[in-house]
Amino acid sequence: MAEKEIICILCPLGCRMKVKEKEDQPGELSMRGHKCKQGKTYAHQEFYNPTRTLTSTVVIHNATLPRLPVKTDRPISKNLIMKAVEEIARAEVEAPVKMGDVIIENLLGTGSNVLATRSLQ
Ligand code: SF4
Repeated sequence: MAEKEIICILCPLGCRMKVKEKEDQPGELSMRGHKCKQGKTYAHQEFYNPTRTLTSTVVIHNATLPRLPVKTDRPISKNLIMKAVEEIARAEVEAPVKMGDVIIENLLGTGSNVLATRSLQ
């Protein structure tokens, strides 16, 4: 597998790590550029199963604004981001909505819920 560059986002140092799977030990990574253990854990996650918290908006009816900002309550696999965006784009809600209300439960079976990030009357 090719070497990847991964920038650690866990602290302001933003270490640039070069990460590659060991040819003789699948599942094991060789890496350089990290300055601490957390960076190593982060690189492992980013290399094998990168995840992201998704933020978006959904249509809201009878509210003071036309769209309601939302976000996933936990990161989801990066591979599912496009499908998740499409699923969220289909959602429509009625006002009023309170910040923290669940707009979509268990998004694409990931266990992540889509929550309202503000209240709208
Ligand atoms: S590897 Fe450690 S020191 Fe470097 S950015 Fe990540 S958390 Fe910060």
